[in-house]
Amino acid sequence: MGADLHGLGYAQSRLTRHSAESGDTVPEPGDAESRIVLVAGDRIVLSGDTALLPPGRAAAACHGDLTLFLGRLDGAPVFACAVAPEVAEGFEAEPGFRTSDLRSLASEAGIAPHELGLLATAKSILGWHARHGYCAQCGTATRLAAGGFRRECPGCGTHHFPRVDPVVIMLIARGDACLLGRSPRFKEGMFSCLAGFLEPDETIEDAVRRETREEVGLPIGEVTYHASQPWPFPSSLMIGCVAQALDAAITIDPAELTEARWFTRDEVAAMIAGTHGEGLSVPPPMAIAHLLMRAFVTGKV
Ligand SMILES: [Zn+2]
Repeated sequence: MGADLHGLGYAQSRLTRHSAESGDTVPEPGDAESRIVLVAGDRIVLSGDTALLPPGRAAAACHGDLTLFLGRLDGAPVFACAVAPEVAEGFEAEPGFRTSDLRSLASEAGIAPHELGLLATAKSILGWHARHGYCAQCGTATRLAAGGFRRECPGCGTHHFPRVDPVVIMLIARGDACLLGRSPRFKEGMFSCLAGFLEPDETIEDAVRRETREEVGLPIGEVTYHASQPWPFPSSLMIGCVAQALDAAITIDPAELTEARWFTRDEVAAMIAGTHGEGLSVPPPMAIAHLLMRAFVTGKV
C-alpha cells in the first residue's frame, strides 16, 4: 500500500506532459479549447478557484518571449506563460480575478490538488528558462525547444534539459520516539524533519546517513523510502524516508539547527493537533515532513 498523500502539495498531477508525447509539433495558445497559466515571478493569476484560464485575454497577455506548451489536460492543450508584474496587476484589478503565490495556494487548499501539481511544473520550468539563457558548455545564448522541455545551443549543439535537485528529508526514529529539529529560519515553536541535498554519486540511503551525522551526530542503520514530493522552489524533489537511529545522544551542528529533540508519538500527535503543552507545532499538511510525522503517529512507519 502506498503512502497517504492526502493534503500533500504539488504531488498530484493529471497533466500528460508534452515531453511524453511523440513528435515535436507544438500547438498555439489561441485554440478555444486551450488553457493558459499566467505566472508573474512568484504570482499566479487565478480566475475563481482555477489558474487554468481560457484563451482570449490570457492568450493576448502571452505575447512575451517565454511561453511553454506543458502538455494536455483531458486532451486540451495547456500553456504556461511568463508575464510582467503589471500584466498580473491588470488582471487583479478586474472582478473575478486574483493572484496568489504557489505556497499560499497549497496551504489554503483553495484549488484542485491536481492543478497544484500542474502549477508546480509551470513554475519550475519557467524558472529554469529564466536562469538558463546561456549554454553552460560554450556561453552562447540558447533557444527554447520542444515546447519548453529543452533548450538548444546553436553554438555547440548541446541540448539542455530542465533540472531537478533531489533532497532527502527524513524522519529519524528510535523505538517510540522520533527526532525533530528547528532551523534558524523556522517560525517560533515549529519543529520539522531534517533534510539536505544529495551530493553527486551518493545513494539516497547514504545521503540520509551523512546529513543525519552532520546535523545531529547520530549513526543511522536502516533507511526506508516512504514517499516523494515535487518542491518547485525552485525545482527540488523531496525524497521522504524513515531512518532508524542506532543511538540517542545528539550533537547539534549550530550552523544548521538551533535545537533538536526526541519526541514521543503522543507528543508529535499533539503537535499536529495544535494541542502540545509547550505550544510546539509542525509544518502544514502540504509539506512532506507533515506526512512523515502523520505516518509515524499512526504507526504506518
Ligand atoms: Zn553551447
